[in-house]
Amino acid sequence: MALRCPLCESSYVRRAHRKGVLEQLLSAVYVYPFRCQLCTHRFLSLQWGVRYARQEDPRQYERIGVRFPVQFSGPQTTGKGIVTDISVADCAIETSLPFKQGDVLKLELSAKTGRPPIIVARAAVRSIRPGTVGVQFVEVSDQEQARLHRLVGEMVGVWITPVSHPPVPSTAPAAMEEHSR
Ligand SMILES: [Zn+2]
Repeated sequence: MALRCPLCESSYVRRAHRKGVLEQLLSAVYVYPFRCQLCTHRFLSLQWGVRYARQEDPRQYERIGVRFPVQFSGPQTTGKGIVTDISVADCAIETSLPFKQGDVLKLELSAKTGRPPIIVARAAVRSIRPGTVGVQFVEVSDQEQARLHRLVGEMVGVWITPVSHPPVPSTAPAAMEEHSR
């Protein structure tokens, strides 16, 4: 019953939006796309007899409520804030500093005291609300990405098997999936 990611075996997966005509047709026979919330792998799975309600939330990743400090630095702004929720692909930061949509920042996420911060080399500001900005992780080294997966996995209480190759970025075509095993 529990759906698992074929790549990292985590059960922390979420229904993804259907892309293209083929996936529209497949959904008629209960084959749906899913996105692993830890390793970002996108895959199709047969869920016989299951019908999903139309999703209103366009977000690919579910964010988890947290509270830890972050240091950010960009060409215009350097400062500190508090991460209030996070996924493997993005996070929200509570800060009083002004940002613009599209600003690019380096982030140092101090998720655990006494441990070096997780470094996001490039993150882009995607949404701005009073006192909070939403940033998408654009460039993260494999090592830091693995730490990010572990952190999110721990927070949701899911164990993951280490992935032997870097995960496919969510924006890239899912062509590498066939050779992953
Ligand atoms: Zn996975």
